[in-house]
Amino acid sequence: MLFIKNTTIVTQNNERQVIKNGAVLIVGEKIADIGLSVKLEKKYTKIKKKIINGRGWVLIPGLINAHTHAAMSLLRGFADDLPLKDWLEQKIWPAEAKFKPRDIYRGTKLACQEMLRSGTTTFFDMYWQPESIIKAVRETGIRGFVGPLIIDLGTVAVGPKQIEALYSRLKQKLSGKVKLTIAPHATYTVSEDTLRWCQSFAKKEGLLLHIHLSETEGEVKNCLKKHGCRPIEYLAKIGFLGNNVVAAHCCWLSDKEIKILAKYGVSVAHCPTSNLKLVSGIAPLGKLLKAGVNVCLGTDSAASNNSLDIFSEMKIAALIHKWDEKNPAAADAQTILDLATINGVKALKIDRQVGSIDTGKQADIVIVNFNQPHLQPCHSEVSNLVYAARGGDVSAVIINGQVLF
Ligand SMILES: [Zn+2]
Repeated sequence: MLFIKNTTIVTQNNERQVIKNGAVLIVGEKIADIGLSVKLEKKYTKIKKKIINGRGWVLIPGLINAHTHAAMSLLRGFADDLPLKDWLEQKIWPAEAKFKPRDIYRGTKLACQEMLRSGTTTFFDMYWQPESIIKAVRETGIRGFVGPLIIDLGTVAVGPKQIEALYSRLKQKLSGKVKLTIAPHATYTVSEDTLRWCQSFAKKEGLLLHIHLSETEGEVKNCLKKHGCRPIEYLAKIGFLGNNVVAAHCCWLSDKEIKILAKYGVSVAHCPTSNLKLVSGIAPLGKLLKAGVNVCLGTDSAASNNSLDIFSEMKIAALIHKWDEKNPAAADAQTILDLATINGVKALKIDRQVGSIDTGKQADIVIVNFNQPHLQPCHSEVSNLVYAARGGDVSAVIINGQVLF
C-alpha cells in the first residue's frame, strides 16, 4: 500500500480537477482513494502503508505515445536533414534490412526505457518481429500495444497468412499490459484485399488497427491517380474504417475526409515533430477536434523525431497550431494535455482502466518534480506541464501500482 501526501494532483478527470495539498492511496494495482491530504491522512491513520511526502511534486496520469516504431531508436541520428524519399530509400530501409531479431529487441528496450523515464506509460508500436518487441516490453514493465507490420505490395510480403499464424501463436501468451494489434503500413504498401481482411480479422478478434494515413501530399496525389479518390475516401469505400482504427499523421485532409473520420470514430495519432522534420505537413488539429475526431499524440520513431519525449511533443503541437491557425488561443494547454493523456487512452480503448487519476482506476501515475527553477513559479500546473516541463523532469513512474523507476 502506497500513500503519497502533501502533493499536487492534475487528475485529468471529467472536471479536469487539480487538487493542491492532495493525497493518493494506491492499493495493489489500483488507486483506492484520492482527495485532500489532511482528510485522507485522518481517514487512513490505522492502515499500515508506505508514506511518501510529495511536496514539490505534481502527479499526472501516465502519458500515451500513440504512434511509434520503438526499435528504430537504433537509427537515432543515423540519417538527418534529408528529403523523405532519400531518407527512406537510401538510408532507413537499407539499414533496417540488416536488423536481426536481437537488434529489434535491443532497440525496443532502449525506447521503452526512454519512454518510461520521460513519463510515457503506454505506447502503440508498429514494427516487425513482434516476439522481440514483446520480450522487451515485458522486461521494462511499460504498457505496450504491439502492432506487427503488414506490407504486401513491393518487395516485403507479410500478409494475412503470416499474421493469422502469428496471432494464434502469441495470443494465449499475452498478459494484461501487452496487447497485440494489426498494423497495415499504409494504403500504398498494402493491397485492397489485405486491407479488407485486416478490418474483418480485427473485428472478429476485437483488435485495434494502426495505419499511416495521408502523411504527405504525394501520397494523396498517388491515391487520386490510382483509386480515383483520396486515401480516407478509399478506406471508407473498402470498409476499412471503424472506431478501432488509429491513423497516424493525417496531415493532408479535405473537409469531407475530416467528416468521414468523425463519422467512423477513427482516432488520429498526431506526430508534429516528425511531420515538421520530414516536412510532411501539419495535421489540421483545430478542424479535427471541432468535427469531434479523437486526436492523440505520437512521437513517430527516433529516426525522424529524434526523441520519444511526449512533453516535447506537447509543446511543439501547441506552438505549430497557434501559428497554423494564426490564433494564440488555439491549441490551449488543457487541450494539449488531453491529447497526451485522456484522448490517447480513448484511442486505445483503455479509458475505463487508465488515463486519469481517479478512484478505482489502475494506478498509472507520473511524478513530475516541480521543485526546479524552470518550473517555478507555478501559476498553472497545466501550463507549466505543456510549455515548460520536459521528460527529464520526471522523478518516478508508477504503472499498475508498481514503481518502475
Ligand atoms: Zn510511423
